[in-house]
This record gives sequence, structure tokens and C-alpha cells, in this order.
Amino acid sequence: MINTLAYAAPSATAPLGPSTIARREPTASDVHIEILFCGVCHSDLHTARSEWPGTLYPCVPGHEIVGRVVAVGSDVKGFVVGETVGVGCMVDSCQHCASCADGLEQYCESGMVGTYNAPDKHTGGYTFGGYSKAIVVDEKFVLHISDKLDPAGAAPLLCAGITTWSPLRHWNVGKGSRVGIVGLGGLGHMGVKLAHALGAHVTLFTTSANKRDDGLKLGADEVVISTDPDAMAAKANSLDFIIDTVSAPHNLDVYLSLLARDGVMTLVGAPPTPHPSPTVFNLIMKRRSLAGSLIGGIKETQEMLDFCAEHGIVSEIEVIQMKEINGAYERMLKSDVKYRFVIDLASLS
Ligand code: NAP
Ligand code: ZN
Repeated sequence: MINTLAYAAPSATAPLGPSTIARREPTASDVHIEILFCGVCHSDLHTARSEWPGTLYPCVPGHEIVGRVVAVGSDVKGFVVGETVGVGCMVDSCQHCASCADGLEQYCESGMVGTYNAPDKHTGGYTFGGYSKAIVVDEKFVLHISDKLDPAGAAPLLCAGITTWSPLRHWNVGKGSRVGIVGLGGLGHMGVKLAHALGAHVTLFTTSANKRDDGLKLGADEVVISTDPDAMAAKANSLDFIIDTVSAPHNLDVYLSLLARDGVMTLVGAPPTPHPSPTVFNLIMKRRSLAGSLIGGIKETQEMLDFCAEHGIVSEIEVIQMKEINGAYERMLKSDVKYRFVIDLASLS
């Protein structure tokens, strides 16, 4: 085993602090990665604080990982030492079910193995994420990161990027699509950038009036302050597709009523407690659909990374030191992130 410095939550209520974890010795199909940067996703906070059920402690979050390959196993074909690579929200899956065969490992019928807090078949324990100096991952779950992309800015693409890209592609968003993005946080700002780059007409819905100018700069054609009933009413029945990224329970009806006939709203935000149930008439009167979407498969993650390299798209980030993580979580809860914290792992020593 390889002893590795990390930052861990010792319990749901204690702050994260320094810790040492054991990484497996790389197997023939593994890539050993020195982690350079790791994005801070709201899912990290939900997990570290046991807002979702099932957190194991100590918990090392982090699934927006960019690093440098330091060693490869003897069977590894796709990666070489020195290359810049990424690891997202998954590190394993069964590799033979229908979903894995379709390149949608996130929906693996046996359950995908999360980058943190998931059973680890190699160690018999559970997985530890990217708030650490190094990680060992099967090459099937390692992504190529183009030299054209800033490595720190690229880190959030591994979760925030793919989680918005996958539904945009699945629901065929392109030129002429009228897209709404709800919430301008880590996921939301990537949703705005990617939908804009795909040619859609993008309307951002935010509760934070002070994010209006940023929304427009990031690529929104319109920004609506969602707490203003008149501004919301003016957008009724006008959108084809909405991605809701909000991390807290809220009234879905105010957004469903923005959809035109046959419109779809996809939930990606994953609040710890349920949303109030939407009104059925809001769905049936215009044949609207309410859907959900989980991150994205490895193949489409690579496609998204290549698209971002081609179009010069990275996340808007605030780089922090590892020891600043607890304060960063508090700011995230106040919607005070512009628009993703990224940990510089050089600060962990
Ligand atoms: P984030 O950076 O904290 O952004 C969430 C945004 O939601 C905030 O910036 C805020 O935007 C809005 N918001 C927060 N509380 C709100 C409230 N009470 N009412 C209305 N709006 C509120 O979080 P994130 O990292 O983007 O993650 C968002 C959610 O997606 C989390 O629940 C996370 O666990 C989940 N997630 C899901 C997947 C998936 O695969 N489905 C993947 C990653 C993350 P405004 O200030 O603009 O209103
Ligand atoms: Zn995430």
C-alpha cells in the first residue's frame, strides 16, 4: 500500500483536517496519478456532512481531479508517464451490463463505484477521493486532458461539466433550442457555458440578483431573477429544456410552467430532502416531462473534455489552499462561489 496525505472529514459535524490514507499498489491496468488540482462540488459537502445517507468516516471527498501520471501498470495502453489526466465521479463499474456496454457506466446495473465513499474491491474498504496527493485508478476511468486547457480550470469539468453536458446532449440541445439553467453555481455556470457553446438560446434563472452581469458574460442571452414573480410570468411556456441545478428543495412548479408544450425539465441538483411535489396539471396540460440525470459516462466525458479544448471552455474558478476547505464549504452554502472552488494540492504537505 502507498501512504498518501489527504484531507478528511472525521465525522458529519467535525471540520475536515489532515489525514493519511492508503492507496493500493498499482495493478497491471492501473494509472498512478499525482493530484494537482481538485474541484469542490456541492456533493462533497452533502457527503462529508452526512446530508445524504451512508457516509463512511473518515471521508475524503473530491471527484473533480486533474493530475499528472507518475506510473502506469504493464497492461496500460492509453496513458504515459508525465501526461495530464483527469478522474471524475467514478473509478469502476461492472463493465458487462447493458448500461456499461452503452458507455453509461454511471447507470451500471451493479452500481458504479464512486470516486469516494464507495466499496473498494481492491482494498476491501471504501474509496477515498481527490482531496489527497495521489490516486490509483483503472485506466478505463482515467480521462485525457488536453494541454490547451488550464489544468485547474479543467478540474470542474470532471463533474460540473459532464453533469450538465450529458443531459444537454441526451435531450439534443443545439442551435435554436430554448434552454433554461436554474442556479448559477458550479454546475449552473458550466450549464450556461456549454449550452451557449452548443448554439442554444440560454436563459439563466438565479436567486442572486448580483449574479446577473456574470450570467450574461458566461453566455446567457437572458437572466431572470427567479424571486421576481412578474419576470417569471413573462417567461411562461417559452422554453424547450431546463436543467435545474439547485442544491436545496424548492417549488418545481415555478420552473415547470416555463416549459413550452413537450418541454423537458431535468433535475441534476440533489437536495438531501425532497422537493414539494409538483402540480400534476402543470405536466399534463402541456405534455411536459420531469426527468433526472446522473453525471455522465466515460466516453461522453472524454467527448465533453475534447469539445471544451476545441472551444476554449474551462470553469470560472477560485483556487484555494487545502486548509481553506471548511471556509469554502460555508461560502458554498451562501451561494458565494464564483463559480467553483478548486483546491491546489501543492498546498497539502
Ligand atoms: P453550488 O455551486 O452550491 O450551486 C448551487 C446553486 O443553487 C447556488 O449557487 C444557487 O444559485 C442555487 N441555490 C442554492 N440554494 C438555493 C435555494 N435554497 N433556493 C434556490 N436556489 C438555490 O452547487 P453545485 O456543486 O453546482 O451542485 C448543485 C447540486 O447538484 C448539488 O445538490 C449537488 O449534489 C448536485 N450534483 C448532482 C450531480 C448529478 O449527477 N446529478 C452531480 C454533481 C452535483 P443562485 O445563487 O444562482 O440562485
Ligand atoms: Zn460533483
